[in-house]
Amino acid sequence: DPSDLLRAAMLQLSDSDLVRGMVVRAPMSRGVVARYVAGETVDEAVAVTAELRTTNRLATLDYLGEDTTDRARAEATRDTYVRLLDALAAADLAAYGAAEVSVKLSAIGQALPADGDAIALDSARAICEAAARAGTTVTLDMEDHTTTDRTLEALRALRVDFPWVGAVLQAYLHRTEADCRDLATAGSRVRLCKGAYKEPPSVAHQDGDDVDLSYVRCLKVLMAGDGYPMVASHDPRLLDIAQALAGHHGRSPDSYEFQMLLGIRMNEQKRIADRGHQMRVYVPFGEDWYGYLVRRMAERPANLQFFLRSLATN
Ligand code: FAD
Repeated sequence: DPSDLLRAAMLQLSDSDLVRGMVVRAPMSRGVVARYVAGETVDEAVAVTAELRTTNRLATLDYLGEDTTDRARAEATRDTYVRLLDALAAADLAAYGAAEVSVKLSAIGQALPADGDAIALDSARAICEAAARAGTTVTLDMEDHTTTDRTLEALRALRVDFPWVGAVLQAYLHRTEADCRDLATAGSRVRLCKGAYKEPPSVAHQDGDDVDLSYVRCLKVLMAGDGYPMVASHDPRLLDIAQALAGHHGRSPDSYEFQMLLGIRMNEQKRIADRGHQMRVYVPFGEDWYGYLVRRMAERPANLQFFLRSLATN
């Protein structure tokens, strides 16, 4: 499939420092970024969250950054999350989980050479304490497959004190149906997505149809179980199937939710919320938007036009 090739090429290209430098400096980039990213500061992210609220959309906020190998940076990210949660509470946006946060463990220390897991866990605890004060929840984003076990381990540790901490499972991984079974228990919040990283065939489905079939098998497990499924996809077929399965299992609209990314299918997000479903928007913000943006571009060849134009005008 040519679009799979394109996607792989883009993800590879994104590792190049030269390309990174060109994109970050390109004047067009700002426009592209603004569609997918809610600004660079806590205040801008809070403003976008308030705006989404006017159309009954919930939010999960992500302070961009990943694979931090600098301890000070990891601590600054932790502190920004705490500040963000305080600001959301002050703006009356966090109560009852209306706005929560999504956290990448590699942004708060997991990738540090020494004691990374312990440092990330400590920082995650500090973020969870701030979330508890604000009356909301935390979801641990899932990164590449080398970190899956460690992230699920951190989830287990955090849920002892903060049972509402959620996890993300990626349908493209062969292991994920089994992980869904483990996590489809009472009180367990699980976001199911297709998966966004370039992964080898030994661990992940490579074919889009196989990923979709896996997504449906995982949905069945989650919807049949006692947990709280968070259906993160823009794929209309999968959204229909999720809704049918929720109906089949007699789930009430408050026992699961839909999630989409800021900037993608925004009108559909509003329609879903209008129909009385819980619709949560993933709201990334911060200066470190490059890796996030490239993954979004790679998902859709049409977006490549924006990307190339931003290089051409440089
Ligand atoms: P696709 O098949 O990619 O897209 C279906 C349709 O949606 C497309 O035909 C198109 O109409 C539309 N669409 C999709 N992407 C775009 C785009 N970029 N621009 C415009 N239209 C588009 N991945 C992880 O690996 N770890 C995570 O923790 C994680 N968290 C996520 C949280 C949320 C709330 C969401 C929505 C996604 C998350 N993802 C995460 C990303 C996810 O894995 C996919 O890469 C992404 O959602 C695209 O898959 P899709 O299900 O939308 O289906």
